[in-house]
Amino acid sequence: MDLKDYVRDIKDFPSDGIVFKDVTPLLGNPIALKFAAEALLALVENQKIDKVVGMESRGFFFASMLASELKAGFVPVRKSGKLPYKTMSEAFSLEYGTDTLEIHIDGIKEGEKVLVHDDVLATGGTAAAVCKLVERLGGEIVQCNFLIELDFLKGSEKLKNYSVKSLLHY
Ligand code: AMP
Repeated sequence: MDLKDYVRDIKDFPSDGIVFKDVTPLLGNPIALKFAAEALLALVENQKIDKVVGMESRGFFFASMLASELKAGFVPVRKSGKLPYKTMSEAFSLEYGTDTLEIHIDGIKEGEKVLVHDDVLATGGTAAAVCKLVERLGGEIVQCNFLIELDFLKGSEKLKNYSVKSLLHY
């Protein structure tokens, strides 16, 4: 099955010049959804994972499925002000300005093995900030796992200290 058949390019969304990878056709197709979840799981070589960290918001879909399959917990990372309990935050640069991501301070315990997942790896700024949060809480990153990697943006260079695995490359 070619999962790329279920990823739709939306030009100029959410702003001019961006080609947005829309994964809702993949999510909406029961066969593609199961195939993608199993293939993402197969990318994880060391399956001794304590926590799967998913990035808001499209990272949540597969991160929670992966957590369930790996018998691990799921931990959300969200934009600032969205998580209800005490948080640790990490600012990172965007093309224009900065953004802040947050994690609950009790989301990861010292020494826990962590799989970081998001739908798309673009410039890598988001994933690098998530990795910093995990490490500041004492977690050990086993793999950064993505449904889609936009190779031409070289996001994996920002994650060069980690094992980076992506299912689909563009
Ligand atoms: P970056 O920090 O540049 O790697 O951007 C990654 C985050 O932005 C991810 O959470 C993605 O969901 C989202 N993102 C960036 N570029 C795209 C794109 N072309 N299509 C869909 N989502 C994207």
